[in-house]
Amino acid sequence: MGFKILTAEVSHETNTFSVLQTAEDNFRNRFFLRGETALKERGEANTELGGFLDVGRTHDWDVTHVLSVAAGPGGLVHKPAFDWFCDPIVGRASDGGFDGILLALHGAMVTDFCEDGEGELLRRIRKVVGPSLPIALTLDPHANVTQQMCDLAQIIVSFKTYPHIDKRDIGQQAAAILQRAMAGDIKPSTTMIRVPMLEEVNGGRTDIGPMIERLQKAREYETQDDVYAVSINAGFASADIEEVGPTILVTGSGDMEEHRSFAQNLADDIWARRNDVLNVYYPVDEAAAYALAHSTNESKRPLIIADYADNPGAGAYGDGTALLGAMLDRGLDNACFGPMVDSMSIEELNRHQIGSRVTLQLGGKTDPQYGGPPLEVDCQLISLWDGIFVGDGPMLGGLSDTFGATAVVRIQGIDVLVTTLARQMLDLQQFCAFGIDPRRYRTIGIKSMQHFRAAFEPIAGEIIVCDSGALCTPHYSRMQYKNVRRPIFPLDTFQE
Ligand SMILES: [Zn+2]
Repeated sequence: MGFKILTAEVSHETNTFSVLQTAEDNFRNRFFLRGETALKERGEANTELGGFLDVGRTHDWDVTHVLSVAAGPGGLVHKPAFDWFCDPIVGRASDGGFDGILLALHGAMVTDFCEDGEGELLRRIRKVVGPSLPIALTLDPHANVTQQMCDLAQIIVSFKTYPHIDKRDIGQQAAAILQRAMAGDIKPSTTMIRVPMLEEVNGGRTDIGPMIERLQKAREYETQDDVYAVSINAGFASADIEEVGPTILVTGSGDMEEHRSFAQNLADDIWARRNDVLNVYYPVDEAAAYALAHSTNESKRPLIIADYADNPGAGAYGDGTALLGAMLDRGLDNACFGPMVDSMSIEELNRHQIGSRVTLQLGGKTDPQYGGPPLEVDCQLISLWDGIFVGDGPMLGGLSDTFGATAVVRIQGIDVLVTTLARQMLDLQQFCAFGIDPRRYRTIGIKSMQHFRAAFEPIAGEIIVCDSGALCTPHYSRMQYKNVRRPIFPLDTFQE
C-alpha cells in the first residue's frame, strides 16, 4: 500500500455585499456528501476529486475522503455552518497516521467571524497535524489568496481555464506534486505576489485576451526542475476584504527570489493592462433593442444576452428583473430567459393548473436596489418541475444539481424559467431538462458570467453581455467597500 492521504472538497465563493447569510441549509441545497457517497457521485466526473483519485490509483494511495461540500455563491458563511463542515475534517486529521492532505477549495470564502475561511480551515488542520505534514490545495482562479493560505499549505494549484473545464487536470497536478513531496523527492513551498486591484480586469477569462499569453508563460515556467506549479488568480471583487484581488503563485523550491521575480512580471502585466476591458457591457434597454433587431433575421442562430450583474455564480440573487423587464418592454418574443429566482412566485404557481393564467409579482424581492423591483406580469403556467437536472456540457457533464421547485411560465412571447434556488446558467440542460430547448429561440437571456460560454457558445449566433445593475455589477463604485486595502484599482486613482 502507498501513502495514506486525507482528502476533502470545500467550496464557497462569498459575496460580502449579499444581504443573505450562508448557513447549513445553503450547503445542503447544493451538496453535502460524506466519504463513499462523495467518491461515488464526484469521483469519476470532471472534479478536483476525480483528479486526486486518478493519481491515487497510480501510486496505490490509501485515500480517506472525509466530505465534499459546497454552497452556491452567496453571503457570509455563518460560523455554525463553517464549524459543521470543518469539524469532521479536522477531527479525522487529528486521528493522525496520514502522509499528506489534499484539499479542493475555492479560495474566496469569507465567514461572519473571519475574512479568510480557507486560511481558518488550514489553521485548524495545522493545529492538529503540526507544521511539516505536506498539504496540497487546488483553488478556483477566482480565489482571493491570503498570505495565511500560502504559509500553511506547501502546495497550491489553481485552475488554468475560465470557463473552468480543467478541474480534474488540476486535481491531478496537485496530487502529483503532493506525491513527490511525500516521497521526499522535493520540498515545495508557495510564494505569492499580489496586484493592487479588486480583480483582473477581465475576470481572468482565458478564451481570448492577455490571459492566454500569461498562462503560456506560466506553463513554460512550470517546465523548470524546481517549479511545480504557477497559478494566476484573477481574484474575486465582490469580497470586501483586506486581501482581495489578483495574485500570482509559484509553488517551487530552490531560488524562491527568482520565482518571485517571474511572478512579479506576470503581476506587472495584469497591472499594465488594467484598462483593457474585453467585454462591452450593454445597458439592459440597449441589449433588448439589439435583440429585437437580431430577431428579425431568421437565418441567424440565437442571440445570447448574458446578464453579468445578476449572476448567481458570483453571489447575486438571481431575482433581478431589469433585463427581463427591458425584453418585455421591447416586445421581444420567441425568447427564453433564466433563471428568475423567486420562491414566492413558485409557491403561487404551485396553486394553479398547468395552462392557466396567473398574475405574478415576479422577482426583485431580495434587494430591489440591485437589479430592479418586482415585475407585475400576466403569465401562462407552462410546466412545474422538481428542479433537478444532470449536466451534459464541458463544465457540468455527468454532475447533477437542482434549482429546487421550478416552473416555466410564458410572458408575452418569452418562456421564463422560474426557480427556487439561485444557480448560474452554464449548461444547456439547465433549460432542456425543463422543456426549453434554447436552440429553438431567437433570443436567449441568461444570468451568467463567462462560464456559460463553454456550453452556449456552440449554439449561439452571437453573444452580447449586459450590466443590469444587480449585485455583481462591474461598476464597483456602486458598492460600499470598507475593508479592502487602499489604494486599489479601480476605486482609487494612481499616479502614472
Ligand atoms: Zn471561478
